[in-house]
Amino acid sequence: MKGRSSSEVDLHIHSTCSDGSFTPREIVELAKVKGLKVIAIADHDTVEGVAEAVAIGEEQGIEVVPAVELSIKNEPEKDFVELHLLGYFIDYQDEELNDTLNRVVQARIEQKIRQIKALQDDGLDVPVEEVFSLVRGVPGRPHIAEVVMRRNPGRFASKEDLFAEYLSVGGKAYTQRRFSLTLAEAIQMVVKAGGVPVLAHPGAYDKVKDIEAMIYRAQEIGLRGLEIAYTYNKNRPYYGLNPAALHTILARFEALADKLGLVKTGGSDFHGEGKDIELGEMGMSYAAFQELRLCLGLEAPG
Ligand SMILES: [Zn+2]
Ligand SMILES: [Zn+2]
Repeated sequence: MKGRSSSEVDLHIHSTCSDGSFTPREIVELAKVKGLKVIAIADHDTVEGVAEAVAIGEEQGIEVVPAVELSIKNEPEKDFVELHLLGYFIDYQDEELNDTLNRVVQARIEQKIRQIKALQDDGLDVPVEEVFSLVRGVPGRPHIAEVVMRRNPGRFASKEDLFAEYLSVGGKAYTQRRFSLTLAEAIQMVVKAGGVPVLAHPGAYDKVKDIEAMIYRAQEIGLRGLEIAYTYNKNRPYYGLNPAALHTILARFEALADKLGLVKTGGSDFHGEGKDIELGEMGMSYAAFQELRLCLGLEAPG
């Protein structure tokens, strides 16, 4: 094992194909430097970076698990809660998967443009092209915020104020996506593409009234695992847990996974620069990954 906080396997990484700041190539090369053996680039609603990562992984001797992180609108709840589903070992060339992801991405683009237009209607300077130039994929609300803060100095005391007034759920410029998957649809899509559906960061859905019941229902549809190790301790909205709270949340979902016979995964949710999270942080040991592969009946490559 390398450092205290790093592991050999990191199954949750974002690249420039969604909202990360490193390209798939840079991530594989960084993984090599850090001594990781297995990584998964799990970009939001896209598999665009997978082929590049797999190819460079082969070159560098790092196993790259084809993956995606799907955003899901949680229907049964009255409050809008966005869930994330990880799909591992997927056939990233699967046509139906790619068609659906294209629809989701299109809806995300439209949603972002509507949010930017709403800000413009309120007299704020925020050019659409400037927001979209910040990423290779679809920008997120933090990218909109970055441009608003830069172009409208003095208008908001902080980014948090901007979010509260405009961009958070219920804010003046917040709009929902016109097309998104339900949890059941997302699970079925991953399974159909030959993949393994795993619920991402189950400890992050405080607004879901009965998370255990939701996970139980999801398992009946085909959910195979829970992301246990996760950087809940890092400073982000709703997280930033202290060590004791982190331990409690990890133990809770680990026990649930054991009880239900779900596999346990781990990953950093590394986004590159600016989030105080290291590649490999809160990942898995290689032995745990091998065990997971065995549980899933998958063979090691090569
Ligand atoms: Zn997520
Ligand atoms: Zn993520």
